[in-house]
Amino acid sequence: MLQLNNPALLRRQCLIAGVWADADDGSTMDVTNPATGEAIAAVPRMGAAETRRAIGAAKTAMQDWQRRTAKERAAVLRRWYELLLANQDDLAAILTAEQGKPLAEARGEIAYGASYLEWFAEEAKRVYGDTLPGHGADKRVIVIRQPVGVTAAITPWNFPNAMIARKVGPALAAGCAMVLKPASQTPLSALALAALAVDAGVPPGLFSVVTGSAGDIGAELTGNPLVAKLSFTGSTATGKTLLAQCAATVKKTSMELGGNAPFVVFDDADLDAAVDGAIASKYRNAGQTCVCANRLYVQAGVYDAFADRLAAAVAKLKVGNGTEPGVTQGPLIDENAVRKVEEHIADAIAHGGEVVLGGRRHALGHGFFEPTIVKHANARMKVAREETFGPLAPLFRFETEDELIALANDTEFGLASYFYSRDIGRIWRVAEALEYGMVGINTGLISSEMAPFGGIKQSGMGREGSRYGIDDYLELKYLCIGGI
Ligand code: ADP
Repeated sequence: MLQLNNPALLRRQCLIAGVWADADDGSTMDVTNPATGEAIAAVPRMGAAETRRAIGAAKTAMQDWQRRTAKERAAVLRRWYELLLANQDDLAAILTAEQGKPLAEARGEIAYGASYLEWFAEEAKRVYGDTLPGHGADKRVIVIRQPVGVTAAITPWNFPNAMIARKVGPALAAGCAMVLKPASQTPLSALALAALAVDAGVPPGLFSVVTGSAGDIGAELTGNPLVAKLSFTGSTATGKTLLAQCAATVKKTSMELGGNAPFVVFDDADLDAAVDGAIASKYRNAGQTCVCANRLYVQAGVYDAFADRLAAAVAKLKVGNGTEPGVTQGPLIDENAVRKVEEHIADAIAHGGEVVLGGRRHALGHGFFEPTIVKHANARMKVAREETFGPLAPLFRFETEDELIALANDTEFGLASYFYSRDIGRIWRVAEALEYGMVGINTGLISSEMAPFGGIKQSGMGREGSRYGIDDYLELKYLCIGGI
């Protein structure tokens, strides 16, 4: 059983329209611990009717919320941020129990998620308008920015706290309400966040959390005309479905979809730094982040040296239950995730790859998988085109910078990319040529509430975090004053 300092954070009901509620028909779904296979708790399996009530309440709650001063909204967000930090250990324990990542990473995620609430509490006060030159002597032109309206969010299981915080933070800062459907694998972190929202003074109905059927809840969120905007983080396939559903009522959308990140090591790189970056970018969260290195391209002159040093570093990773001290890699989220990694490894071997480390399910069973390195990767392999979302590092060899640019950009995705070089000319050339929303240069860790997170091409649209992130929740309105 989960031992919490504040047991009230483990919620088995949804916060709908300001009230903790069961599903209308009483049905529930189990949440299981991926490290043990045990059920942690059951949460409501809700559908369209409960979602509709949450949306109606959001519309009502927004009327007052959007009229408050930015400073008043900021104060509520700030309290919420402080409550996340005050309850960091409990929130991390819940997160690790349902998601599997090591406790240290879970604590880090809570601080990371909280940072979005803090940041957007501050940004709330910096939503500026504009005055423009008028097009007539008797006219004045003003641009104001207003909340987009009721928003919906659908979030994934790999960051059960932070993916929510970075949507609800800017939404509430801008004056919007939000109805959230968290991933069914990790609803407990979302419900704990909602419990703290109540404590922080988020008004009833302004933020609802609906757990249950993705199809039914998703159809209501995307079909209901009261919802003005959907923010989604998840797979490209689901994103496309949701975009199509949103088209009928022309909803605004922010889409943070899949990636296929290249991680490039040039001959002139600091190899030790590149190894550290590769470990952070590839094996964090067991490889289950949309910005994880998916394809590692290493220039011929350092290929073998980098492969050896990476193997030595990966061999030190400790696989196990995230609650155990020293563990650096927890289980994958479920059996499907394990199968995909197995499939990518088998396919790589069939196309000439050589497994130099790992390659199999871990002896611990469940979703545990050995950290894996495959040498001699090539463009015919699935790993070259698809996101593995697991602890598999395929090493591709390349010769020239031009060849590398072509290889790195040869994908429909455009989220994160990374490269290591100490040549300032090359740094500019490659950074400008990479078709990605984010480029990590001599670093494998790029996410921050201060920077705009998001992708191009089929990795999506919109940006989260930074001074740009609140724009996704604001509309421009142009006022033309005549007769002056
Ligand atoms: P992942 O592979 O990360 O689970 P998904 O895109 O399947 O990616 O899931 C991300 C989120 O989208 C989850 O909350 C999931 O429940 C939700 N989801 C999946 N399919 C649909 C759908 N058809 N409509 C609405 N939400 C969906």
